[in-house]
Amino acid sequence: MTTQVQEQTAKGPVLIEVRCPADGRLVASVPDEGPEGVAVAAKRLREAQPAWEDLGPDGRAKYMFRFLDWILDNEKHLVGLMQEETGKSWGDAGLEVAMAVDLINYYGKHAKKFLADRKVKSWGAVGMTKNLRVFARPYQLVGMLTPWNGPLGGPMLDGVPALMAGCAVLFKPSEFTPLTWAEATRGWLEEVNAPPVLASITGGPETGAAVVEAVDMVAFTGSTRTGRKIAARAGDRLIPCSLELGGKDAMIVLSDADLERATSAAAWGAMWNSGQICISVERCYVEEPVYDVFVEKVTQKVKELRQGMDPDGSYQTDIGSMENANQLAIVESHVADAVRKGAKVLTGGKRAVTGLFFEPTVLVDVDHSMQCMRDETFGPTLPIMKVANEKEAIQLANDSPYGLSSSVWSKDRKHADRVARQIEAGAVNINNVMISTFQLPLPMSGWKTSGVGTRSGGATGILKYCRQQSVVSEKIHLKSEPHWYPYRQKSSELQARMVRLLGAHDWQRRLGRTPKR
Ligand code: NAD
Repeated sequence: MTTQVQEQTAKGPVLIEVRCPADGRLVASVPDEGPEGVAVAAKRLREAQPAWEDLGPDGRAKYMFRFLDWILDNEKHLVGLMQEETGKSWGDAGLEVAMAVDLINYYGKHAKKFLADRKVKSWGAVGMTKNLRVFARPYQLVGMLTPWNGPLGGPMLDGVPALMAGCAVLFKPSEFTPLTWAEATRGWLEEVNAPPVLASITGGPETGAAVVEAVDMVAFTGSTRTGRKIAARAGDRLIPCSLELGGKDAMIVLSDADLERATSAAAWGAMWNSGQICISVERCYVEEPVYDVFVEKVTQKVKELRQGMDPDGSYQTDIGSMENANQLAIVESHVADAVRKGAKVLTGGKRAVTGLFFEPTVLVDVDHSMQCMRDETFGPTLPIMKVANEKEAIQLANDSPYGLSSSVWSKDRKHADRVARQIEAGAVNINNVMISTFQLPLPMSGWKTSGVGTRSGGATGILKYCRQQSVVSEKIHLKSEPHWYPYRQKSSELQARMVRLLGAHDWQRRLGRTPKR
C-alpha cells in the first residue's frame, strides 16, 4: 500500500515512503523538504524567471518541444513509474502521456497568439489622441499543489500553460505520488537542459502550506476540504488562487439514447483510473423505459473488465488498484452504506485479498439518502438510479453540492441541449464522458463547491497565469493635456460645455439647460 509512513531518521530529514499500492512493495523514500526546502527552491526560481520571460513564447516553446521529445523517448520509464506509485493499469497510465503531449503541442503552438499585446480601441474624446494596449505579464512564481490521481497528467494540465506564460513554477505533488513528477522535473533540468524555472518539492501538507506562503499565485488541484484552506490563506495574503476540486458527476440517460454507446461510456467513465478522477461518472440516472436494458448491458461490460497489474506494458488489464488505503476505505464504506440502506450489488462490491484493489462495482436500487449518491466516492463504482422522466433526472443531478462535469445521452441534439441548459455543472458532455476536459479550447470550471476559476479554455488557460498590464501611449505629442493644471475659467468652462455636448442624451442638456419635469 502506498502510505505516508513518515519516519524521523536519527540525523536526516523526515522521510516519506512510497509503496506500490498493488503489492505493497517499497518503491522509494523521499524527504519531506519542509518550509526550508520551499524557501530555497522559491529563491532559485525567482532568480531564473526574468530570463525565462525574456525568451518570449517562441524561445520557451523550443524548450517545451524538447521536453515533449524527452517524454516520448522515456515513455515506458514514466508509465512504469506512474504505475509503481499509483497501481494503475498500463493503459490508464499511458493516457497521461497522451495528455502531456497534447498539452505541450497546444500551448507550445498557440502561446504566441494568446500572449500577444492586445490593441484596444480607445474611448471618448480624451481617447482620440491615445493608443491603448494590454500586455500580458506573467506572475513571477506560481505554486502548484497537485493530488495523487494523475502524477504526470495533473501537473502538466496547469504547469504547461504557466511555463509557456513565462512564469517559474514551484510544484508540490501529493506525498502519495511524488516520484513521476520529480523524474519529469529532473528530465526538464538535466536532460532537456531547460532553464531552472521548474522545481518539484517533496513533502506533505505542511510543505504544501509553505508553498502558498512563498508564491505570487496558487493553482490548487485536490479535495474541496483542502481547497477551502488554500483559498483562505491566499485571501489573507491577497494573492490569486484557482481551485480545481472534487466532483460528483451525473450521467443522464434519456430514453432515446444509443444504449450501446452509453453503456460502454458508463463502464469506462466510472472505472477509468479505478474511478479516481474528479470528472468520472459518479452516479447515473436512467429513464424508466430503457432502465432494464441499460443496467443489463452496463453490468455485463463492467463484469468483463480485467483487474490487476500489467507492469510489462502488455495491456492485459483494464483497471488497476486504488492509490491508497484511505481512499479504498471510503469506497468500501460508500458501498456498505448503500447496501445497508437497501441497494443491490450487481457485480463487484468488495476489496481484493491482497493489494489495494476494489472490484469494479455496479449498484442499483440506490437513492439520495445514500453516501454513494451524495459524497464523492472517487472509486470504481457505478450507482444507477431509475427515474420517471427527464425532469426528475435533472432535479436529482442538481441535488448536489458539487458541479464539476456531467453527461447527457440522447440521439436528439436539441433535446440534449435543453437538458444541458438546466444542469448546474461547469461542463456537459452530450453522448460522451469526460471529453470536455481534454478539449483544451474549452474552459474547465467547477461550479458550486467544485472549484473557483477555470483552467484551459484557449487563451484564458494561459492568461490566467498573467497579470493584465494596461499601457496608454500618445498618438500625438502635446505639451500639456486640457484637464491638467492650471485651471483657467475660459478653458475649464469650455471643457464643461464639451462634456455636456458629447455626453448628454438630449438637446436641452446638451445646450446647458435643465428640462422641466
Ligand atoms: P488533497 O486535498 O488531500 O491534497 C491535494 C494536495 O494538497 C496534495 O499535494 C497535498 O499534500 C496538498 N495539501 C494538503 N493539505 C494542504 C494544506 N493545508 N496546505 C497546502 N497543501 C496541502 O487531495 P487528494 O486526496 O490528493 O486528491 C483527491 C481530490 O482531488 C479529489 O477530491 C478529486 O476530485 C480532486 N481532484 C480534482 C481535480 C480537478 O481538476 N477538479 C483533478 C484531480 C483531482
